[in-house]
Amino acid sequence: MFKMNYEEIVQKIVDEKGITKEEIETKVGEKLKQLNDLISKEGAAHIIANELGVKVFDLEKKDFKIKDLFVGARNVDLTGKMLRKYEVREFKTERGEGKVVRFMVGDETGSIMAVVWDTKVIDSLNNFKEGDVVKVTNGYVRNNNGFKEIHLGKDSKIESSSENIEVGEFKPQRQRKKISDLNVGEFSEINGTVVQIFEPRFYNACPECNKKIDGKCATHGDVTAVEVPIMNFFLDDGSDSIRVVAFRENVGKVLGLSSENIKGSDFNEIRADVLGKQLVVSGRVVKNEMMDRKEVIANDISELKAVEVVNELVKDL
Ligand SMILES: [Zn+2]
Repeated sequence: MFKMNYEEIVQKIVDEKGITKEEIETKVGEKLKQLNDLISKEGAAHIIANELGVKVFDLEKKDFKIKDLFVGARNVDLTGKMLRKYEVREFKTERGEGKVVRFMVGDETGSIMAVVWDTKVIDSLNNFKEGDVVKVTNGYVRNNNGFKEIHLGKDSKIESSSENIEVGEFKPQRQRKKISDLNVGEFSEINGTVVQIFEPRFYNACPECNKKIDGKCATHGDVTAVEVPIMNFFLDDGSDSIRVVAFRENVGKVLGLSSENIKGSDFNEIRADVLGKQLVVSGRVVKNEMMDRKEVIANDISELKAVEVVNELVKDL
C-alpha cells in the first residue's frame, strides 16, 4: 500500500485545482463525518483528490504485466511472447482506407489481443513470427465487448526482446468496472478504497468441500471441521460504495495477515491500517435480498498498485 502525507495531498489539490486549503479541509471534514470517522484523514484526503480528478502521484511510466492492464491505461510497455499472429485486414470507411493487424501476446500472468493500426508498425511486424518474444512500447488499453485489448498507434513500437517469458494459462482479461455500473449476476472486477470494515467472524467448514457444516458434512460424513474466516467491508470508488464479502485467504489479504494469524490478532489495532487501503476485488455481484442492495462475493483480492492509481486518475481527467 502506498502511504502519502496528508499535507502533501492537500497541497497537490491546492496547486492543481486552485481551491483554498480551507475549502479542502472542510471537504475532508465532511468526508470524515460522512464515513463516521472510520477512515484516516489521509484516506479522506485521498478520496477528495480522487473525486476532484487530481492525480496524487508522479510516476514514471512502467512496464506492465498483462494481468495489471486496465481499460484507459496509456503509455503501456509490455514484454511478451507472440502467441498468434493474424492476417492483415484492410478496411474502408468514409474517411478513407487503412490496414489493421491483430496478434495475441502472452506473459506469465495472462494474454491479451494487440491491435496494430499504424502502417509503419504493421510493417515492423514482418520481423516477427509466432513464438518470438517482443517488447511493445507506448500502447494504450481499450475495451472491446468486455475484453481488454492493447492498441498500438503511430507512437508505438514493436521490438525484439531477449527476455525469457514463460506463458501462463490463457485467460482473456476482464474489464474493470465502476461500482455504480455493476449488475447483479455478473462477475466483475472493481477497485476502490476501503471505507468501512467489520471484525472477521468464523464458521466451521468441511475441509474437503469447504461447505459450512454443523458436526457432519452431508457429502463427506465425519470430518474434522476447519474454522473459516468471513469478513465484510465497504469499498468506495467515488461512483458508489458496495459491501464486499471475503472468505478464507482473502480475509488475510485485506488485513495483511497470514491465514493462521487472523484469529489471534487484535482487530482494533489492524483496522486503522486497513481503512484507506486501495484494493482490487474480483468477484460475483449478488443481490442481498434482506438489505435490498448489491454486494460482491470476493473471489480474489489484491492491493492496487500505485501506478494503477495514477492511471485511473489520469484516465478521468
Ligand atoms: Zn464436505
